[in-house]
Amino acid sequence: MQTDLGADTVSQQTSAIPHKACNTCGALIHPAAEICPKCGVRQRTPVSKPVLLLLTFFLGGLGAHKFYTGRHWQGILYLVFCWTYIPGLVALVEFIIYCFTSSERLNEKYTAKGSAVVIIVIAIVAFIFIVGVLAAIALPAYQDYTKKAKASEGIIMAGALRARIVESFIERPQDMSCSSLTCNLGGVDLNPTKYVKRLSSDRSGVIYVEYDEQLFAAPKNVLTITPLIDGQVADLSNPIAAGKDVSWKCGQSASTTVPVKYLPGSCR
Ligand SMILES: [Zn+2]
Repeated sequence: MQTDLGADTVSQQTSAIPHKACNTCGALIHPAAEICPKCGVRQRTPVSKPVLLLLTFFLGGLGAHKFYTGRHWQGILYLVFCWTYIPGLVALVEFIIYCFTSSERLNEKYTAKGSAVVIIVIAIVAFIFIVGVLAAIALPAYQDYTKKAKASEGIIMAGALRARIVESFIERPQDMSCSSLTCNLGGVDLNPTKYVKRLSSDRSGVIYVEYDEQLFAAPKNVLTITPLIDGQVADLSNPIAAGKDVSWKCGQSASTTVPVKYLPGSCR
C-alpha cells in the first residue's frame, strides 16, 4: 500500500516537470532550451499549430505559412500571384489539411523558421505594397471616370440654356448672348455650381460651359456646344436662318479645351 503511494507520487512529480526530448540524443531537457545541455546540439524550433493555422487562414494567400515553415521560395510564389486568388484557394486547402493533422505530425514535417510576428509584419507590408501598385494603376482610371461624370453635369446644365436659345430662335432671331451678368433670354438658371464656374452663350448662340478649376485647370476647362442648321455651324442671330430647325454639336470644335478623354462619346 505504502509502496504504491510512493510510486504514484514519483510519477506525478515527473509529469509535473515540463520537459521535451532532445532531437539528437533523446535526453529530457527543458522545453525552452535552445541547445541540449547533454549533447550540445541546437534544438529545432517546433511549429506551433495555432500559429500555423492562423497564418494559413488569414495570410495564407500571401504565403505567410510558407515563410513560417521556411519554404521561402514557395512563399514568394504565393506573394507574387496573390492577386490571382489562386494562392488563397491553395492556402485554404492547406488550412483544412493542417486542421486535421496532429501537432506531433506537423512538428515532424515542419520546423518553425521564423518568428510569427515578423512574418505577419512582412506579409502585411508586402500586401500593402502590392495593393499600392494596383491602386497606382486603378486610381487614375477611377479619377478619370469621376471627372467624366462631373463634366457631364455641365452638359446637363447647358441643356436648359440650349432649350431657351431654341425657343428664342423660334420666336424671332435675336441676340442669343446670355451670362450671369446680362441675359437677353431670361428664365435660365446660370448660377455657378461646384463643378461649373460659368455658363454662358454668345450672340450667335454658341454655349460655353466653363468648368471650375478644381475640376479642370484653366485654360483646359471650356466646353462649347454649337448650334447647327442643316448640319452646318449657324449664326442664330442672323435673321436669314429664321424658321429652320436647330440641332447641336457638343465639343468637336477648336474652342473646346477640355481634354477629349473627359467628354462623353457624343461630345468627342
Ligand atoms: Zn541532446
